[in-house]
Amino acid sequence: MEKLLIANRGEIGLRILRACKALGIKTVAVHSTADANLKHVLMADETVCIGPAPSNLSYLNIPAIISAAELTDAQAIHPGYGFLSENADFADRVEESGFIFIGPKGDTIRMMGDKVSAIRAMKAAGVPTVPGSGGPLGDNAEENLKVAREIGYPVIIKASGGGGGRGMRVVHTEGSLLKSIQLTKQEAGAAFNNPEVYMEKFLENPRHIEVQILADGQGNAIHLGERDCSMQRRHQKVVEEAPAPGITQQQRDHIGGICAKACIDINYRGAGTFEFLYENGEFYFIEMNTRLQVEHTVTEQVTGIDLVKAQIEIAMGRPLSIKQEDVKISGHAIECRINAENPAKNFMPSPGKITRLHFPGGPGVRLDTHIYNEYTVPPHYDSMIGKLICYGTDREIAISRMHIALQEFAIRGIDTNIDLNIEIMCDQGFCEGGQNIHYLEHRLEHLI
Ligand code: ADP
Repeated sequence: MEKLLIANRGEIGLRILRACKALGIKTVAVHSTADANLKHVLMADETVCIGPAPSNLSYLNIPAIISAAELTDAQAIHPGYGFLSENADFADRVEESGFIFIGPKGDTIRMMGDKVSAIRAMKAAGVPTVPGSGGPLGDNAEENLKVAREIGYPVIIKASGGGGGRGMRVVHTEGSLLKSIQLTKQEAGAAFNNPEVYMEKFLENPRHIEVQILADGQGNAIHLGERDCSMQRRHQKVVEEAPAPGITQQQRDHIGGICAKACIDINYRGAGTFEFLYENGEFYFIEMNTRLQVEHTVTEQVTGIDLVKAQIEIAMGRPLSIKQEDVKISGHAIECRINAENPAKNFMPSPGKITRLHFPGGPGVRLDTHIYNEYTVPPHYDSMIGKLICYGTDREIAISRMHIALQEFAIRGIDTNIDLNIEIMCDQGFCEGGQNIHYLEHRLEHLI
């Protein structure tokens, strides 16, 4: 491959550009009119402006992106995360237009994008799922009441087409079940254009643990261990780490092996993540992400494997060069998302010009960010402006390094969540490890 088009922005645009440089591949950066000064746009071999600031007119504009690839004679398109990365029609259009899509086939994305079909496929492949209806709920009231009784309350009604933590409703008692199903169906129809809903047991205090996989679509698949992403606010991950505290090598081999085998079963191609809720020593599959994730970095730090490079090599048709026995998890890595927002003002986004900037450094410190001094954070996109990743031979050292690096990190001109991240690094419960997905939300009132 000689030239790759980066269909994204911000830190992940830069991350993909760096992987291309490592592989000797030339880059095309596409950008909106608001993003001409993005770091990776300034660094790319070629650039194409694909539209105005609103993402639906630029980063989500499929014809403009395909035209840019044609114009620049790029061979492949990397979608990054967010935007078009899990849009099956985009993946199809890219391939139909004769380009390589860095990701799985459109049909795989489609199957995983619908939660009911994803759960069915995973169940069939032997992946443990949450006890539930196993399929869409019909209109038969008696039948739905029976399903809920069998599962046991509380239950959660979820939209098949849901995403981003939306389209879900918890039901604690039989009295409100039928009404809740009806409401969730209506909302799902309006929000996702698909009224289909299903039912699952509601796990009360789970952790979020996910497994990273790589598969080549040629019969080979491996897992790269797990990440713990339980530190969340409004279903958004705030701090992630690898490995997950308290997970044994035996558990890792077991659940990772199941995920790798499932990838072979569905002929998966590319990098992917199996997301699980973890409670009382059991893993329950909730969804698969068919793309690179924000928090892929912590896996890279503990395995030494460059995931973006691996994605590109797989897309080039090369069989996986890494064998399962070559994957060794060593040490501990933590990632803090750095957001332009004000935690004290209900996390209000804080775009604007950066007037002073000092980056942290030192042993075990990695900073993935596109910001630079005098860069203006535009108001149109996600508020994440970077990721600070710290590595240590054990978790305690990783936390200590993160604490020091966050203190050293100075950004002026805009508000950020750096101080909140410092508070989290000092929090006793976080330092103990293994907290559930509600922990941070409960602690936030004391930390801000
Ligand atoms: P989305 O695609 O919207 O992110 P998920 O299925 O991944 O939807 O669920 C998002 C979050 O909702 C989970 O991380 C968890 O916090 C909560 N959740 C989903 N299903 C359950 C469940 N069965 N029990 C408890 N919490 C759940």
